[in-house]
Amino acid sequence: MNIAKIIIVLILLYVGYRVVRMLRAGSTGSVKGSRADAVTSRGEDLVQDPFCKIYVPKSQAMVKEINGHVHYFCSRECIDQYISKKNN
Ligand SMILES: [Zn+2]
Repeated sequence: MNIAKIIIVLILLYVGYRVVRMLRAGSTGSVKGSRADAVTSRGEDLVQDPFCKIYVPKSQAMVKEINGHVHYFCSRECIDQYISKKNN
């Protein structure tokens, strides 16, 4: 009898633990979700890629200083193409 009670209590504790974790995950945003989803759902500042004109979350943008001006790019390819375009 005692062992059965202990097992039931352990199951209840486990279920309670899972419910609390689920509720926490729901309130702070899914940790399992991709980085892009997490960032955009938080409403982070967007910066514009001057080469392809795409808006990128600031934390994910590639930062490049060109002629004393800081530019944000979506990818390294855009940095390279932007610089080569400027030099031509
Ligand atoms: Zn780009």
